[in-house]
This record gives sequence, structure tokens and C-alpha cells, in this order.
Amino acid sequence: MGYAAEVISLDEVRASQQRQLLRQQLRKRFDQWLDELETQLAGPKPTLAQVSETIWTLRQSLTAGMAQTIVEQTYQAEREQKSLRCATCQRLLKARPLVSRAARTLIGDVEIKRPYFYCRHCRLGTYPLDAGLGLNSGQIQLDVQQAAIDLATEVAYETASSLFGRLSGIAVSSERLHTFTNEVAEGLSVLDIAPSRAEMDQRVAKVASGRFRRPVMVLGIDGTYVPSRPEQARGRRPGQARYRARRARWRHDWYEAKGFRFYLLDGDRLVHLLSWHQVQSEDELGKALKQVKDAGLIPEETVRLCVVGDGADWIWKHVQALFPDACQVLDYYHCSEYLYKMAYTQYGQTLPALEWVESTLTRLYLGQVGAVLGGLRRMLPTSEEAAKAIDNCWVHLRKHRSRTHYGKFRRGGYPLGSGGIESSNKFICHVRLKRSGAWWYEASSNQMLALRCAKYNGTFNQVFVRYRHEKLGA
Ligand SMILES: [Zn+2]
Repeated sequence: MGYAAEVISLDEVRASQQRQLLRQQLRKRFDQWLDELETQLAGPKPTLAQVSETIWTLRQSLTAGMAQTIVEQTYQAEREQKSLRCATCQRLLKARPLVSRAARTLIGDVEIKRPYFYCRHCRLGTYPLDAGLGLNSGQIQLDVQQAAIDLATEVAYETASSLFGRLSGIAVSSERLHTFTNEVAEGLSVLDIAPSRAEMDQRVAKVASGRFRRPVMVLGIDGTYVPSRPEQARGRRPGQARYRARRARWRHDWYEAKGFRFYLLDGDRLVHLLSWHQVQSEDELGKALKQVKDAGLIPEETVRLCVVGDGADWIWKHVQALFPDACQVLDYYHCSEYLYKMAYTQYGQTLPALEWVESTLTRLYLGQVGAVLGGLRRMLPTSEEAAKAIDNCWVHLRKHRSRTHYGKFRRGGYPLGSGGIESSNKFICHVRLKRSGAWWYEASSNQMLALRCAKYNGTFNQVFVRYRHEKLGA
């Protein structure tokens, strides 16, 4: 007992000596920094702006210097390591002289000197300290990457690069930023950017508390067009380089980004849960939706699930297959647009046209879709075109008849429109992708969309944890 206590106290003494030593070294660094500051501030009395600017300019040499001192002190043994067994052939390798490298972090460029080991037999070199420190293989470290990507998912790469440089004092070129974004977002699936079930439950519980009825969870599904460039625009054929300045040989295009969004209704407020938007086929969207369901992320027992969509068949196909018990609502706005189109064809842009649409919407509101269908059947078409429009309208309404009981939906607290998914289209897709002169490759737009979804889903950090594991594990 007494012996163990002695050992511990000896360790403690050693630890305390180490701490003292580190403090001394840090103070020495700080003193050097103060000298520099003093020199810079010498002369007439500075204004606050001048003091602030001087410290701002010098701050990274202080913060990065501190980090360097801490690393050197903490990893002294590793820095002095003399030999290492080759991981492949087990030969004993002798340390080569220390090699210095810079690690660009949010507090500045930290210089790291570490021994190098090289096995001539296996032709493999290694810096064991890099792994110990969890260093990124490139100069720019993950903290910088995450902060810069945070910015690049909001504004154009060029702007992000210059803003980031100005605000942090750390240089990351827009090309690098582009590469980082691609690397981090590579292969992200809906489950990588989805909140956990626990998180979902928490958000549901918050809305449910003090309520008599289970909260309404809405699933909106919709597509929106984003500026795209075809794959063949990528790369140049050999010999073409000197024609590069010429006009691009591809024509821009608009691809449909299909997406879904789960959210809760909390009075007039909308509580976001999960968005997933990608340039993808309806089949891929269906698969993503199924992944979400199969992962058990949707607490179907504690909410009243409701799906809002326009008339597109693919939407209802997936809903029917995955959430057959959900309340299905045909977007009211979409429905009224449909009716207007028909009425204008039948009556022209006249008062009777407006009256017909209004009374039809009222009937639908009252759940009298049967009467509306009967009325359409009895309507005498004013032209061949009108006959076709009336027929289309009848087919459309009949197909969606159970989805048009707007009065009932309203009484149940369900939404009548797909405003939730439309705003998600806007703030996730349009805000970043629709910029003058920007045309996105499908892969790039999907990577950007995945990151932006992660942001709104509250899983941006989680994406970087995954990336860190992959990158450092590799
Ligand atoms: Zn070897």
C-alpha cells in the first residue's frame, strides 16, 4: 500500500515537473511574442484600431507557436525516438534526421518536426508521430477544412475562399475548397446525413408535449430544376488545350433534383426533421425513402403521418408502397392550378371561369369530390380542346379523389399545401446551386446538396466525424 502510494507520488512529481517545464517554455514564447508586439507598436500612441490590427496580424504566430511548444513538449519521447521496427518486414530501422512540416490549423500554421524512418528493403517510409498527432496527410488540417466547407456550402467557392481568408487569416484556395468539398461529400447517403431516431424522437416529443392529439408529421415530395452541365463537358481531349479560351462546347441544361422532406407542424411553425435532395431518378428517391423507413427513423407510432405532393404518379407510388397508412393530400395549390387551366380552356379568361374554379374548390373543400366529378361529366365542352381538358381534369381528380378532402384535412390539422417541401427546394437547392454562370456536374451538385441537407438536418458535424474516421483510418 505504502509502496504503491510512493510510486504514484513519484509519477505525480514527474508530471508536475513536466507541467512546470511546459509553462516555462510557453511563457518564453509569449515573451518573444510580446517583444515583437512592442516593436510593432513602437512610435506615437496608437489608436485602438491600430492596436487591434497589430494584434490581429500577429496573433497566429502566438497561437500556432503555443501549439507547437505544447506538441514538442508532449511528444518529446516520440521526437527523440531512435529506432522503429518496419511494420512490413520487422527489420530495425534507424531514425533519420528530423523533418519539418507545417500543419495549417484554425490557429495558424503549426510547425512540426518529427523523425523519419525508411525501410530500404520494403521501400516504405513513415513518420510515426504524424499518426500519433492525427495529422491530415495534406498541409491543411480537418478543422480548417470543416470551417471552410461550412462557408463554401453557403456561397460560391471563390467568395468562400476570399471571405475565409479575410475572416480567419488562413489561406485556402477555391480549387482546394472545391476538392475538399468533393472529398468530404463523396459517397454520402441519406443515412449519413439523417438525424438519429433518438434525435427525431426528441423533436417529436417537444412538439407533442401538452397536446391532446399526436403531432402531424408531414412528408413532402417534389422535384425542382437545378442548373447542370452534361458529363461530356468534363476534361479536355488531348491537343485541345490551346483552344481552351474558346466558348465551352457543351450546352447548359436543367436537371431535376428530386427530394423529400420530413417536418412537424407546430401550430403555424414548421419543425424541420430531415431533408434529402439529389439529382436522381424517381427510383433512387424511392430507395432513399425506403432506407429511411427501414432504418426505423420515422416514429410512425407517435405521430400522424401525412404526405403532400402534386399529381406526379411516381410520388404516390412510393408513398403507397412505404407509408400506406399515411394521410395523403394532393397539394391544394397544384389542384387549383389544374382547375384554372381547365376552366380557361372551357370558358376563356372570363368571370364564369373564375366562378367555376371557386365553386369547385369549395366543393372539394367540403369533401364533395363526387359532385365535382359528376359536374365535369355533364359539362358541355365549348371546343374540341375543351373536351380534352375536361376529360383530363376528370381523370386527374378521379385518380386523386381521396386526396382532395381539404376541409377534412384542415379539421384534422393536416397541411393542404406542399409549402414545406417547396421552401426546402429553395433553401437547400436554389440558394447555393442557382448562381449566375454556375452550371453543375451531376456529381458535384449532389455532393453540395448532400452537405446542405446535412446542415439543415443538424448533422453537418456528424459528416465530418465520419470523414475523419475514414481519412485517418485509411
Ligand atoms: Zn521493411
